[in-house]
Amino acid sequence: LSPEAAERLEALVRPVPDYPEPGVVFRDITPLLADGDALASVVDELAAWTTADHGTVDLVAGMEARGFILGAALALRLGVGFVPLRKAGKLPPPVESVSYALEYGEATLEVRTGTVPTGARVLVVDDVLATGGTAAAAAALVERCGAEVVAMGFLLEITGLGGRDVLGRHTVEALFQV
Ligand code: AMP
Repeated sequence: LSPEAAERLEALVRPVPDYPEPGVVFRDITPLLADGDALASVVDELAAWTTADHGTVDLVAGMEARGFILGAALALRLGVGFVPLRKAGKLPPPVESVSYALEYGEATLEVRTGTVPTGARVLVVDDVLATGGTAAAAAALVERCGAEVVAMGFLLEITGLGGRDVLGRHTVEALFQV
């Protein structure tokens, strides 16, 4: 992505201070999603990166909820299927679950058993990489199914929270950093 293109995308992501709690700057991507050219360029960029660096993948997996939007669009663009990684209790059984620590408390991601075949090459997608906890749980879930996490793609990365380090052994791509 050129610096100018990255700047255009960043201008469409609204920083909201102290939301949902004091001290957090929430990155609201809804203006970007509502801009057809920007949405297309995000999907095109992520697809071009995937194909150039990793060849073909078998599936795209996206985390609830904004990972569904970008992930489903990307899957369509790549000509592969999409797997939703959902918050606890949303998918009917049987499911595989991975729990992970949040700053306060715990969260769980689930995938429907059997939707990710053993040996599948899976691209994991979400909107924001922050501490990396959600993405690490997503990767663990895909691997629990016996599949391979080919790479992890994000619209934006919040630097300074250590997300990239948490994802250590995985290939991580973000279209821009804040
Ligand atoms: P984390 O597990 O800390 O990397 O958080 C990533 C997940 O939480 C992603 O699904 C994001 O959509 C969401 N998230 C975390 N921090 C923010 C933020 N500052 N702005 C928007 N979304 C965020």
